[in-house]
Amino acid sequence: MDESVVSVAVPLPFQAPFSYRMPAGAPLPERGVRVMVPFGSRRVIGVVCGRGHDPKQLEPQPQRQLKEVLQVLDEAPLAEPTLLDLAAWLADHYLAPPGECYKLVLPPAGVRASRAMVRLLKPGAGDDPVLAQLQAGPLRLSALEKRLGRDPHARLLRLRREGVVALEQALDAPGFREVRVAVLEQEAPELGGKAQAEIVERLRAAGGRARVPDLVRDRPSLRGALDRLVEKGALRLVSERELRAPEGLPARDAVAVVPTEDQERALADLLAAVEGGTFQPFLLHGVTGSGKTEVYFRAVERALARGRGAILLVPEIGLTPMLMRAARARFGATVSVLHSELSAGERHDEWWRIREGEARVVVGARSAVFAPMPELGLIVVDEEHDGAYKQDESPRYHGRDVAVMRGRIEACPVVLGSATPSVESYANAQSGKYRELRLPRRITAQGLPRVEIVDRRAVLRAGGEPILTPPLREALALRLSRREQSLLLLNRRGYATSLLCRECGQEAMCPNCSVSLTLHRTGRLARCHYCGHEVRTPEACASCHGAYLRLTGFGTEKVAEAVAAALPKARVDRLDRDRASRRGVLAQTLAAFEKGEIDILVGTQMIAKGHDFPRVTLVGVVDADVGLGIPDFRSAERTFQLLTQVAGRAGRGDTAGEVILQTHMPDHYALMHACSQEYDAFFERELEFRRTMGYPPVAALLNLIVRSADEDKGREAIAALGALLRSHAHGRYRVLGPARAPLARLRQEHRFQILLKGQRKAMREAVQAALVARYGETRWPGVAVDVDPLTVM
Ligand code: ADP
Ligand code: ZN
Repeated sequence: MDESVVSVAVPLPFQAPFSYRMPAGAPLPERGVRVMVPFGSRRVIGVVCGRGHDPKQLEPQPQRQLKEVLQVLDEAPLAEPTLLDLAAWLADHYLAPPGECYKLVLPPAGVRASRAMVRLLKPGAGDDPVLAQLQAGPLRLSALEKRLGRDPHARLLRLRREGVVALEQALDAPGFREVRVAVLEQEAPELGGKAQAEIVERLRAAGGRARVPDLVRDRPSLRGALDRLVEKGALRLVSERELRAPEGLPARDAVAVVPTEDQERALADLLAAVEGGTFQPFLLHGVTGSGKTEVYFRAVERALARGRGAILLVPEIGLTPMLMRAARARFGATVSVLHSELSAGERHDEWWRIREGEARVVVGARSAVFAPMPELGLIVVDEEHDGAYKQDESPRYHGRDVAVMRGRIEACPVVLGSATPSVESYANAQSGKYRELRLPRRITAQGLPRVEIVDRRAVLRAGGEPILTPPLREALALRLSRREQSLLLLNRRGYATSLLCRECGQEAMCPNCSVSLTLHRTGRLARCHYCGHEVRTPEACASCHGAYLRLTGFGTEKVAEAVAAALPKARVDRLDRDRASRRGVLAQTLAAFEKGEIDILVGTQMIAKGHDFPRVTLVGVVDADVGLGIPDFRSAERTFQLLTQVAGRAGRGDTAGEVILQTHMPDHYALMHACSQEYDAFFERELEFRRTMGYPPVAALLNLIVRSADEDKGREAIAALGALLRSHAHGRYRVLGPARAPLARLRQEHRFQILLKGQRKAMREAVQAALVARYGETRWPGVAVDVDPLTVM
């Protein structure tokens, strides 16, 4: 190994790191340190991912041709070795560019929001450049950066640990507000009267510190007593910054609950693992409304009590404002919520707040699995079955699987929670790889809602309403008269699903993709759901120029219209990706629904996820078959999960719930088992199908897609790859294809596909070898490798 060479992963889609030479006499930087390197005619910031030539690079260039590292940016790696290991695993497991993987575990790019001030606490050695700058007085972090000309964070981290400097967060950073927190200073303060005793009592119950508004909310008269305790020195008030509550969400206090017997049983095993600090994946399989959140929170509390941090992953942060609020109420300012509306600067600040141990609980979506939490003690993956955990661009990782790998690397337990576990996770629980914890009952006495199937075929034959069948319409009217709320699911947005020519039968298609256009805004706009192409709805057929066009199929827009027409007194609103794309609409609509300002909420799968609305007593599924027509091996699993989840939104309060499913396929097993809410029965049936067809969890999958603007070139490339993959197989995997992908054109590119089924390691190695043989070591243009794909479209 050459001692002066480092391999550097650059943040570009290259499959291998590049070798660089260190300037003569310079020490070799550690793995994880960022370096500025020349790259072509540019300079880029890369990460040192190894010393010496990377073994992946088969024929290293002679050393004299290597370019030199221009600048070493960090004096120590910013990410812990465990996270660097995780990034390396990611690159390997998903055949992803290492630069893209390391990027996930390093501080996000972007300017710090940074009104933070750095202040010297004790006189330090004058030759330290950071300390030298601070001699004259506190400085803004941004000013310090400017003066030093490089990122001072690694050094600041150490100086803060040594207690030499303090970083004071700006309290008025956007998205945050300042709040007063009372801290108990004396063990047994002298008390002047009942009110003061009450304050001290409340503070003790809250562990010695609490937000002032929480302390006095129900008794404003306590405020005077609080001030007097402060004057006496029994209490101290400190300012903390906290995330503003999502818009318009009414405050709900954290109520202390006594765990049920089921919860106790689940917790016994889980807390032991948290206590022991050992790697163990758990599958918390609890029906909807069984109190999974309380189990998560108690496990988090135990981790905190041991001085460990915790990461709580949710599929989509915008859809879980309640969990976020509950986490804040329970864990206070130590929670860091990573949501998509953070600015680049705020994201950067939060990264450092976690890295430096200020935030000990992280709540976030998929990418929060890479949060730089030191001394991690627990990872929770809520709704682990949710497809949102899979990233659909490179690196194509699955947040749940990464969580399990991180737990292994960090030696901590990982809890995967769901009412409808993914078939893979449940199989892992059955094989003993994961330990299963069950919550078989709802917390409330009502139990699970009653589910009724309405056969739309029969209603249609009788000349009935196509959108709302009579039973569903009557059930909605009944809820309206009782002032209860209803959810109406249709997992298809838009007004109409297609525009059909009555003369030639042709559908209006997207010019860029091989899909039909969806009609929006009562049919005035035609839009492609894949590339975003949008036009005014054409008045004539593109193929025969006929003028008789017909809208067919219906989406959420039309359902909302039909409901408003059928029940003119109802307050109807709609929630789907079209509506939620406007900033704030998602949070506002969920809040309005929670406050009872909406009677009937129509929506896509967005309304099915995790919500706890106690006044919902009816869930209607307008067309339960939407997902079943999709030619994908997971369509039954997804449909079962969606229907069971949305049914689980009904009857979570004091009144029993009812669910009505409208369908053309009342005998389909996904529907029947969702109806009886029998997960095990569904699983057995589904596993049989997967076994017959050789799909996960029986075999692993790898999907290889080649995209090309030129159809012939794409076809030629996929054929060559197919031949290579077949010759490497040796019975370890099967090669399906090459074929046109089901989505044959996307954004003006032709797509071709090879699907491999078999042993994951063998498939990965063969694909790597085939791509290297065809394209070389570093770049695979137009190729997408999807290891463990969620869909094969
Ligand atoms: P899940 O996530 O399993 O669907 P939740 O965690 O949302 O269920 O819990 C359902 C409801 O039950 C919530 O309103 C929660 O506050 C309440 N709850 C949970 N555990 C208890 C308990 N031990 N005692 C009383 N109420 C509880
Ligand atoms: Zn398109």
